[in-house]
Amino acid sequence: MDVIKTLGWRKFCIIYENNDGLVRTQDILKNRTWQISLRQLPFSDDYRPMLKEAKSSGVTHVVLDVERKNIFQVLKQAQQIGMMTSYHNYFITSLDLHTVDLEDFRHGGTNITSLRLVDPDNPLVQRVIQDWVFGELRYGRAVEPTQTTTLQTEVALMYDAVQLFAKALDDLDRPRHIDVTPLECDGDFTWVHGNSLINYMKWVQVNGLTGLIKFDTEGFRRDVTLDIVELSKEGLERVGRWDPHTGANYTRTYSEVQQGIVDSLQNKTLVITSVLAAPYTMLRETSEQMTGNDRYEGFCVDLIAEISNILGFNFSIKIADDGQHGKFDAKLNRWNGMIGELLSQKADLAIGDLTITYEREQEVDFTMPWMNLGITILYRKPTKQPPNLFSFLSPLSLDVWLYMATAYLGVSLLLFVLARLSPYEWIASSFSCRDQEDRTLENQYSLINSLWFTMGSLLQQGTEQQPKAMSTRIVAGIWWFFTLIMISSYTANLAAFLTVERMESPIESAEDLAKQTKIKYGSLYGGSTWNFFSTSKLPTYQRMFSFMESQNPSVYTKSNEEGVKRVQKSDGQYAYMMESSSIEYITERYCDLTQVGGPLDSKSYGIALPPGQMLRPLTWFYSL
Ligand code: ASP
Repeated sequence: MDVIKTLGWRKFCIIYENNDGLVRTQDILKNRTWQISLRQLPFSDDYRPMLKEAKSSGVTHVVLDVERKNIFQVLKQAQQIGMMTSYHNYFITSLDLHTVDLEDFRHGGTNITSLRLVDPDNPLVQRVIQDWVFGELRYGRAVEPTQTTTLQTEVALMYDAVQLFAKALDDLDRPRHIDVTPLECDGDFTWVHGNSLINYMKWVQVNGLTGLIKFDTEGFRRDVTLDIVELSKEGLERVGRWDPHTGANYTRTYSEVQQGIVDSLQNKTLVITSVLAAPYTMLRETSEQMTGNDRYEGFCVDLIAEISNILGFNFSIKIADDGQHGKFDAKLNRWNGMIGELLSQKADLAIGDLTITYEREQEVDFTMPWMNLGITILYRKPTKQPPNLFSFLSPLSLDVWLYMATAYLGVSLLLFVLARLSPYEWIASSFSCRDQEDRTLENQYSLINSLWFTMGSLLQQGTEQQPKAMSTRIVAGIWWFFTLIMISSYTANLAAFLTVERMESPIESAEDLAKQTKIKYGSLYGGSTWNFFSTSKLPTYQRMFSFMESQNPSVYTKSNEEGVKRVQKSDGQYAYMMESSSIEYITERYCDLTQVGGPLDSKSYGIALPPGQMLRPLTWFYSL
């Protein structure tokens, strides 16, 4: 468990042989943080059907709990069906892997890890093997070549047991003589020295072939340390140590591990999966016939070309068969798009406008993000209002115009009445001058004249009539002041109306979209934007998602390009939810489109790698 944790495995398959294997791996099975599938080794010698089935269900990490004698066959048959590539990782529980001939698997790049109790480089082990080989040859017995270099764990344990027993007997025999008396196995008598011998063996510490031999009071081995070994081109190499107190500790440094992987990448050709989306991966527009990677250009193509230069690998770009980014299809129980291609080992890397999401992160590894973005709305730019015949009325609202008309009539009437009442507004008629007796009086403010006077002053023109009485002058003064304010405001507003172009957009944010149903809105189907709405817990986005789901014809699109075209053609009846980085690119190119509102979330694009260790230097490269 410690080693699997240190290796960072999250999803793997346990291949076991018999019930003992299940018992041995029960603690692993109980760990809920791992996704584990179980497969039993068939009783026949043909393991290929089981391995093929494991391969097709996307198994890349295997815990192999089979007997030593079967390990080679299982690995060999896995190799035959293509399950021994650099994407495959094996952890072999047998402590005897060092006694298996792994020559055939050294160069495939498969990550094989195991543990061992006996260190073949230990001088004590070498001396014991030499003595034994020498002894066997002396008696004319044949020795297998693998047996001349290393020992099986069981043999080493047996050797250590005998050594310990002999030492204990010898030590006890020194101070007093120990007799050995014949005893019956099922008799009542026990050997008098038996207890002392056992207690002494529990207490004494000896260095054996399996390390320091030490027991607890119950008689179980204590403080056992195991070597963690990995298969490299040179054979099994010790890469760390496990002990019960500190767990698994790798002796290689992080940069040594990374360097090892960088070395393994040299001159390898990696298949890069991508989707066509401007400006990340695009078909090169040229009149010449292009082949290979030259067919593509874009930000991601440049990015991977730079990385490959630095890390020294070659690459070949392929567009994902279904052109999708990656969505889990519950019915088919598999991922589609770029993620699916990584999981089915059709590609080694996925690069494009591929968003790092929680669900995808569970299945594949992502590098550090290379671009940050958020979901925003792509919409048609607000259009200019056509000129209106009555636009001179626009500076003031209808209410103001109505109040003004009322005030105009009211003031005219007031003036008329006051002029009637005041004696100073009555003057002698010019026609009656000759006859003093027959003087007729005239009033200049007839109803028509009053209306004319107020109209003249409202339009800042003036009239012939001048008020003479105090009351009419006060009314006229107040009216003039009122018209001064009104005309100034009107002139100022009119100037502003004439200079500022009135652009009106019916939507300013996602909330505006959610509130209405006239303007339809949608997103790329199955991408992270769609996923954001489908999994959101916020009522506004949930409402938007149910609206999108209920629309017929569908508001979803197969590509962002299709979405952009739909917004352009819909004449303001369709808004498209898209990632801000792509929207910025689109709005720079299509002047009739714009981004509406701020980002709804915050996320990033990253390069996806198949789960496993092989391409980790990319992650490391980004963290520099
Ligand atoms: N970049 C997104 C993805 O990785 C696509 C989208 O939803 O706009 O799925």
